[in-house]
Amino acid sequence: MSLNHTTSQELFKRAQHLIPGGVNSPVRAFRAVGGQPLFLKAAKGAFLYDEDDNQYLDLINSWGPMILGHAHEVIEKAVREALPGSLSFGAPTRREVEMAELIISMVPSIEKVRMVNSGTEATMSAIRVARGFTGRDKMIKFEGCYHGHGDSFLIAAGSGAITLGVPDSPGVTKGVANDTLTAPYNDLAAVQTLIDANPAQIAAIILEPVVGNMGLVPPAPGFLEGLRDLCTKEGIVLIFDEVMTGFRLAKGGAQELYGVTPDMTTLGKIIGGGMPVGAYGGRKDIMDAVAPAGPVYQAGTLSGNPIAMSAGIAALSYLNDNPQVYTRLQQVSDRMVDGMKNNLLQLGLNYTINQVGSMYSLFFTEQEITDFASAKTSDLQLFGKYFHEMLQRGIYLAPSQFETLFVSAAITEELADTYLAANLEALQAIHA
Ligand code: PMP
Repeated sequence: MSLNHTTSQELFKRAQHLIPGGVNSPVRAFRAVGGQPLFLKAAKGAFLYDEDDNQYLDLINSWGPMILGHAHEVIEKAVREALPGSLSFGAPTRREVEMAELIISMVPSIEKVRMVNSGTEATMSAIRVARGFTGRDKMIKFEGCYHGHGDSFLIAAGSGAITLGVPDSPGVTKGVANDTLTAPYNDLAAVQTLIDANPAQIAAIILEPVVGNMGLVPPAPGFLEGLRDLCTKEGIVLIFDEVMTGFRLAKGGAQELYGVTPDMTTLGKIIGGGMPVGAYGGRKDIMDAVAPAGPVYQAGTLSGNPIAMSAGIAALSYLNDNPQVYTRLQQVSDRMVDGMKNNLLQLGLNYTINQVGSMYSLFFTEQEITDFASAKTSDLQLFGKYFHEMLQRGIYLAPSQFETLFVSAAITEELADTYLAANLEALQAIHA
């Protein structure tokens, strides 16, 4: 059994002469799993179609945004209706007001919000605002959390629990790196130590309240609450990066699910319904530091783009008006995860599965996964083999162990069972 990927292979050859690594974002290149990326040309509902007309069940969903499935009629209609207006004004529009009202009504921590064009812009801007608001320079992030490609976030942790930042990429200066302190995820004591060592110097603590970027890692009981208390006590701005979890784990994101309210929140992915949109928002007093209300500069030619706003408003309104979507997502995701656990049991395997709502990861290790160090115990070679066995069976997974999967509302019970049959066969094949 081998799918024909001839056209994808030809396109990748061309792309490699023209685009660095042949792709416009690194994970797409399949470097972590070997082989070559597929070039996609269409998608509908739960399915993707590549240039060679192969069909795949999609468990990435554009890395999160397509929570309702691809080409959802409500979003497509909104975009079609917006097209005759203009593709861009660079001036205020009614839709931006409607979008802000919607976000503020859905996300508990947000009293004022600014639209941007990506998750990266959202986090970069939020950190600048936190620094401007507090008059402090440093921030704390957690090992294995990803917050986009802004310089201050591209910091690898050293081997100890408490390290000064070391740039993770050439081009990030030492100066920037020195202001980023890192701690292991779920380790409140390490955070306390960093705060004690840098009194009144920490502007912000930023984290994924549920991590999707080292595989799926949930917050330990008390972790989010503990950070909330520390930040309140120390005058530190607590930022939840809900680019993945926002509008996915609940309509108000992880902060609604766990009942912990940060000072600021960054959003992306679902907020654009598939269009390039991000946003950051939070407490009124903090957001009023943003220009032109306040002195912290942040701007964007295409920010609040009318077509993007229309797609985003359609997606968010649908989720807001149809809370049963979340119940369905939970049911189908539970079916998939429970089924995978049964498959593992049947094969005498004891790998770890982490799940929160419609996000989950299978780790090829028997260890409990609570942070980046434990996530790294996963057998990456085995993951690569599993990935390709699934692909051959028409299941499109994230091409890296250190990513979460995203279930969409287009996945039915029947499709979940198709997925589970492929999962069993793939696990058998890699252990044959
Ligand atoms: N924050 C988180 C939690 C993310 O998962 C991502 C992207 N996957 C980003 C920020 C960056 O978003 P973007 O890729 O839209 O710049």
